[in-house]
Amino acid sequence: MLEKINLLNLNEKELGELVVSLGMKKFYGKQIFNWLHKKIVRDLNDITNLSLKDRELLSEKAYIPLFNLLKHQVSKIDKTEKFLFQLEDGNTIETVLLRYKDKRNTLCISSQVGCPVKCLFCATGQGGFVRNLNVSEIINQVYTVERRLVKQGTNLNNIVFMGMGEPLLNLSNVSKALEILSNENGINISKRKITISTCGIVPSIEKILLEKIPIELAISLHSAINDKRDQLIPVNKKYPLEDLHTVLQEYQRQTKRRITFEYILINNFNVSENDANALADFVHDFDHVVNIIPCNPVEGTDLERPSDKKIDRFVNFLETVRKVNVTIRREKGTDIDGACGQLRQKTPKKTVTK
Ligand code: SAH
Ligand code: SF4
Repeated sequence: MLEKINLLNLNEKELGELVVSLGMKKFYGKQIFNWLHKKIVRDLNDITNLSLKDRELLSEKAYIPLFNLLKHQVSKIDKTEKFLFQLEDGNTIETVLLRYKDKRNTLCISSQVGCPVKCLFCATGQGGFVRNLNVSEIINQVYTVERRLVKQGTNLNNIVFMGMGEPLLNLSNVSKALEILSNENGINISKRKITISTCGIVPSIEKILLEKIPIELAISLHSAINDKRDQLIPVNKKYPLEDLHTVLQEYQRQTKRRITFEYILINNFNVSENDANALADFVHDFDHVVNIIPCNPVEGTDLERPSDKKIDRFVNFLETVRKVNVTIRREKGTDIDGACGQLRQKTPKKTVTK
């Protein structure tokens, strides 16, 4: 028997083609897209303006995938929520909902099961790599949480690809997900409100430019000195800082978008004046903002967060002496391991492939 088609993997055009191939009228494609991606229905039977016959026809060939919510934790400190979702093949991913005082909600989503980059300071990377997420698995993180928020009378406002995985190693699925999420006939989250965070996969950034994929970029820099960055982010050996700088200059020349640079502060490693100067020199040429993230402790490493005094000294130097635009990322969800870089599938360990 042929496998059923996962409807959330299809963009509006592909859905239109499917509908026609089933002998239904073409304009139903647009309507069904709206039910799937705007009303975010869970069941094809909820598409009430389709005839029973058409609903049956569609259900024979296709389905709406749903996640199994294995675990849901809510931070007592700041109401951050962490979701552990089980995918169809049994793998699990984590998604984090960040709630801000101004009532805005940001969803931090995953792009891979695990991550092949293996950054020294990152729990996901240390846990190994299983596979890329498909389009439906990327957008279903958004829809599953949005359904809950709608019931609470609120909505998602921003999306950041800062969960598990390196989005630019799964570029085709990530960019298709972006296209679907920003479709006006769907959930319609503006592309400007969706940020992709990357450790700096240079060929993918070149591809983004070549194909003119509109993307808001955040670059995980963490050190602007190659020797040190090599130790933190192994792919820096392949795509060193000079190459990253060049491609980002081209990105900003073409897109005129501000670039966010993320910089984790690790005690006794990248917090000296020398480190601050290298960072300032690197970002100087860009319309930039540097997001400082005091390192979160990760099991199995001895990397530490610097003292508040050292953090202040670093930030002050950047701001006042080097005129760098700096923001400090407040830690969120630390009591539920929901903070940056702490995501890692803890249950279940088993991986099943169909
Ligand atoms: N792979 C992408 C996106 C996921 S990581 C990337 O690396 O950018 C999301 C963010 O969490 C990155 O900025 C990453 O550097 C940060 N992060 C990872 N481990 C961390 C830790 N132990 N403490 C603080 N931030 C961490
Ligand atoms: Fe992967 Fe990002 Fe973690 Fe590095 S920081 S291992 S790129 S998820």
